[in-house]
This record gives sequence, C-alpha cells and structure tokens, in this order.
Amino acid sequence: MIVKTAIVIGAGFGGLALAVRLQSAGIQTTLVEARDKLGGRAYHWTKDGFTFDAGPTVVTDPPCLEELWALSGSKISDDVNLMPVRPFYRLHWPDGTIYDYANDEEALRAEIRRIAPDDLEGYERFQEYSKGVEYEGYQKLGSVAFLNIGSMLKAAPALARYQAWRSVYSIASSYVKNEKLRQALSFQTLLVGGNPMTTSSIYALIHTIEKRGGVWWAQGGTNRLVYGMAALFERLGGTIRLGDPVVEIETSGNRASAVRTKSGWRQTADAVATNGDLMHTYRDLLTGHKRGKAMAKSLKRKRWSPSLFVVHFGLKGNFPEIPHHMILFGPRYKGLLDDIYKNGRVPDDFSLYLHHPSVTDPSMAPKDHATFYVLAPVAHLGKAKADWDGDFGETFKNAILDEVSKRLIPDLKDRLITSFHYAPSDFGRDLNAHLGSAFSLEPVLWQSAYFRAHNRDDVIDNLYVVGAGTHPGAGIPGVVGSAKATAALMLEDLA
Ligand SMILES: Cc1cc2nc3c(=O)[nH]c(=O)nc-3n(C[C@H](O)[C@H](O)[C@H](O)COP(=O)(O)OP(=O)(O)OC[C@H]3O[C@@H](n4cnc5c(N)ncnc54)[C@H](O)[C@@H]3O)c2cc1C
Repeated sequence: MIVKTAIVIGAGFGGLALAVRLQSAGIQTTLVEARDKLGGRAYHWTKDGFTFDAGPTVVTDPPCLEELWALSGSKISDDVNLMPVRPFYRLHWPDGTIYDYANDEEALRAEIRRIAPDDLEGYERFQEYSKGVEYEGYQKLGSVAFLNIGSMLKAAPALARYQAWRSVYSIASSYVKNEKLRQALSFQTLLVGGNPMTTSSIYALIHTIEKRGGVWWAQGGTNRLVYGMAALFERLGGTIRLGDPVVEIETSGNRASAVRTKSGWRQTADAVATNGDLMHTYRDLLTGHKRGKAMAKSLKRKRWSPSLFVVHFGLKGNFPEIPHHMILFGPRYKGLLDDIYKNGRVPDDFSLYLHHPSVTDPSMAPKDHATFYVLAPVAHLGKAKADWDGDFGETFKNAILDEVSKRLIPDLKDRLITSFHYAPSDFGRDLNAHLGSAFSLEPVLWQSAYFRAHNRDDVIDNLYVVGAGTHPGAGIPGVVGSAKATAALMLEDLA
C-alpha cells in the first residue's frame, strides 16, 4: 500500500490539531514550525521561576479537544490535566461594581438580580437565542468547510432567522436594558478579535459554549495542551521540524509539489496545509504561482482584526481574592472600541483582561509568588502608528500596570519580581502576522464562512488552509474546528 504524505506549515493549535487528525488517519505527516517552540499564539516563556503563557488562557469546549485523542483510542488525560475554573470570569467596572459569571444557574441569576434586577427575564430570552445560534452556527456548521456559495445559501435561512446581520451588542441590547449587562453579554467577541458592536450576532454562541462546557485550565499552562497534542502526534508516528521557517511552497501547474525551508531542507508531499498567517502564506511563500500575488492583493483589501498589548508580570505574594480571569472595564465601551477598530487611536483609558493562573494552579509561579498577564486590545499596525519597540512601549506598559495597581493591587510596584511586554510589532515579527493582527481576519459577517479564506485553496488543488484565517475563525475551539473541516477535505482528496 502506498502511504500518502502531508506537510503542515505552522504548529499553532490549528496546525497541531490538523496534524493529529491526518496522522491518526494514516497520512504520514510532517509539521514544520518556524519558531523554537510550538504553539504559535500559544507560545510560552519561563522566567525567574514563573511560567508565562503568551496567548490563549480561557479553554472552552473540551470535547473538541478530547476528540483528537479519541481518534486513536486514547484519552486527553493521558497527556493533559484539565482543571475547572470558577468563576469563569469576574467583571469589574470603574464604579466598583463586580459581576461573577459561571454556569451555576442559581448563582448567575442572583448576580443578575443584584446588578440588573429588571433584566432577569430578558437574560433568559438572550440565553435561548444564544442556544439557538450555537446549535446552528457551531454544532452544525462550525467544523464543515464552506467552499462554494451554495453552502452559504444553505445556511441563509438560519442566518435570517437569527438576524445575523445585527451585532452581538445590538442583539444583547434587544434583550437587556442595563448597560453593564449588555457589556457582560457581548465582550466575548473580543477574545476572537471581533468588535462587539459589529461582529455578527451569531457570535452570541460563545455564551452557550462557555455555559454548556465550562471554562477550563490546563495544569502547567496552555502550553501543556500544546505539548500534549505534540506528544500525541509524535506517538502516532508524525514528525516535527522545529526552528526552520518555510520559505517557499513549490508548485507544479496547479498543484503544491514541495516545501522548502530556510535551512535548505526540502520535502515533497501529496498535500500541503498552511497554518501560517494568510497574507504571509500567499504573498511570501507562494511566489512561484500567480495565485500567490492575486490572493495577497485580495487579502490586502480585507479587514484585519486588531492587535494586543500584553504585559506579563510576576509578583511576590499570593492573591486569593483575585480570580483567574478578570475583565477590568474602563469608563468607555463603544468609544474605546471605536478607537481600536476605527480611529486607530491608542487610548489612554483601558479595558483590560487580567489573567492570574497561579490562583488555580500554583505550579505557574514559585512558592508564595503569583503569575499574571494583563492585556489591552489595541489597533493593528495598519491603523495605529506607535513606537511600540521604543519608549512608547515602555510608557504604555507602565500605564497599564498603574491601572491594575489602582484597581486591584495598590503595592504592585513593590511586589514586582519580573515583567516584560509583548506588542503588536512582536506579533508581526515572531508570527509573520499581517499588520501585527492578533486574530487574523476580523470576524464580521462578510468575512465569515464562505467569505473567509477557504479551507482548500480555490486554485491550487492540494493546498489547504487551517487556523484563525479560515472557517470558522479564531479561538481554540474555532481553529480546532477548522482543523476538522480541513482534515475532512484532505482525507477525501487523498483517499
Ligand atoms: C494574547 C491572546 C490571547 C488569546 N486568548 C484566547 C483565549 O483565552 N481563548 C481562546 O480560545 N483563544 C484565545 N486567543 C485566540 C487563539 O489563541 C488563536 O486564535 C489561536 O491560538 C490561533 O491558532 P492558529 O491555529 O491560527 O495558529 P497560530 O497560533 O497563529 O500559529 C501559526 C503558526 O505558524 C507558524 N508559522 C508562520 N509562518 C511560518 C513559516 N513560514 N514557516 C513555518 N511556520 C510558520 C507560526 O510561527 C505559528 O507557530 C488568544 C490570542 C491571543 C494572541
């Protein structure tokens, strides 16, 4: 029997999940990663005894991950210990209001009664709406490829029924009146790069994904999930090539024939999939085929999601009163989102996400110390011209730490053991991310499903795409879903 071969470029969650799926199906797969560690946006550092995960921290829908192990009859618990996180998030506003969110119905109702008593009934209706879009948009269509307009037309009745042209914020506002609750029900799109004011209301499905499956943490950090997937892939017989960027996808006619790396390594394959940034793939790697230039031109016209500024820091002491995930809303919601998504203005007020993993998992910090990161969404490099690598980066970092200090930890500066920041320019440099975007194409309706980059290229028959730039989009469940859609196409084509 002839064994079919595949190369996957890039070891983000999408690339890893695809590699596991292909190798589980008997396709001899090589995963080629540019950087010195796996994970892509889920890279990690260890510094002064602290473990800092670079990106994803909110792990939702564990079944989408468990499926990867089940394909070869093994269990995720062989490699990763998933721990429940409670509350899912604590939301905190400048006036001191706190709202704890988890899937304990009684506790959640009590929280809503406390901050917005008149909205309890509206919340129940929002929840029904969210369940409906989750079924239509995630369960039915979250991991199937949209390759032609026909597939989009099939989804049209559901899109119309759920008024998918409206935004998540607009839908939330139609159910609840309290501004804080509207923010609480809409901010989640920011975790996949979407502006709550313009992202399709279909994304209200995140609420149901979280409530149904919970919010989880991988013991040792999200990086343990990455390395668990890599261990599974290697046990199945897959090969990982690390620290060697791909410089060209060679083509012969309308087929990808081989992949060449910076070190001079070259390998032919029956199929090639890219998990690298879309613009980078088409503009820089497909230079030998006119498809590369044409697609890069079209991608240039698309809307790219914003970037992030992330400050990692380790503190002396324990902070049991600060939960694992917090959102520190600022004084403005829509105005701040306009600055990030439209005006390209780097604001001096913030809405921040604070990550405090050592409260769930003490292994993330030395004894009696705490690991944190705090992130601010900021405009991408095409909109905001800031000196991220110079003095401005340092000033911005200090302003963010001051805000955390003011809101939560008054003696933060005295307790600081270590800190560093990761700016939009780093996303560009380290990940080849176009415009330093943290989440690839913005998830607006006209860049979703069929209108997103296709899981199989339209011209090069055996070139496939996986990860945040393709359907369904960013976020761990999104890119793992994209791997399922892409693997289905590849396995069918390779059969
Ligand atoms: C700070 C941050 C926080 C986030 N928080 C959450 C969260 O809490 N929950 C959640 O679900 N999602 C979260 N996300 C989103 C989520 O992390 C991403 O959508 C997802 O991890 C992207 O995966 P991907 O498969 O698209 O690949 P990426 O992570 O983008 O990886 C692509 C890989 O391709 C490699 N590559 C690029 N070019 C080449 C080349 N030429 N040769 C070889 N390799 C190449 C890169 O080095 C990289 O490793 C967060 C993202 C960020 C940035």
